[in-house]
Amino acid sequence: MLSIAENLERVRKQIAHAAAKAGRTVDEIELVAITKTHPAEKVREAIEAGQTLFGESRVQEGRVKIPELPSNVHWHFVGHLQKNKIRHALPLFELFHGVDSLALAEEMNRIAADEGMHPRVLLEVNVAGEGSKFGFSPDKLREQMEGLLALQRLSILGLMIIPPLGDKAEASRKYFVQLRELRDRLQTEFHVDLPQLSMGMTQDFPIAVEEGATLVRVGTAIFGERTRPRRE
Ligand SMILES: *Cc1c(COP(=O)(O)O)cnc(C)c1O
Repeated sequence: MLSIAENLERVRKQIAHAAAKAGRTVDEIELVAITKTHPAEKVREAIEAGQTLFGESRVQEGRVKIPELPSNVHWHFVGHLQKNKIRHALPLFELFHGVDSLALAEEMNRIAADEGMHPRVLLEVNVAGEGSKFGFSPDKLREQMEGLLALQRLSILGLMIIPPLGDKAEASRKYFVQLRELRDRLQTEFHVDLPQLSMGMTQDFPIAVEEGATLVRVGTAIFGERTRPRRE
């Protein structure tokens, strides 16, 4: 088995290769190393290999793990945030990838005002319209965009997607394209800047990079298989 340092190196090379193929530069893409279920010592190995940006998908796990690690690394929250965890989550994470409803955004806004904070968020879109998944449908997002933009405490920086699990990485491409096109439309319609596209996981991140991802969320390819598999 390869070491975490070797895995990171390989993932970074794949990102560079995909970026070059699409005529992009690597500085446009940030690698978020997803550490869920993995212990702090594995994260430390990744830090030693030069990785500084990490992601967790459960607040409870982050509350234990993050304080065990050097404070100069950066953490993003990539999961579905429960309303009763917002207050704990706000000080731990610099960016919230999975803001998936107006009600959640409103509650984050309210608590952020209380706490004197200005959270940065991405809106999760369910472009495939899967009933079981979290996220705004594209129609709902356009309908609720004014309401979201009116939330003074939140900085909405872009969109995020978890596409339906396919057998082949190529199956994700159309969803990544749809997310990018939706972002472009929202920018024009609402006169906002949405520079961030969070898309791509272990099985499809090179495709996401080709289609414009600025944040890729990679866990398994860096840290190995999770003993408790979980996608949220
Ligand atoms: C777990 C998780 C990832 C990483 O998944 P891998 O397939 O292990 O790369 C990415 N995004 C989210 C939202 C996750 O929950």
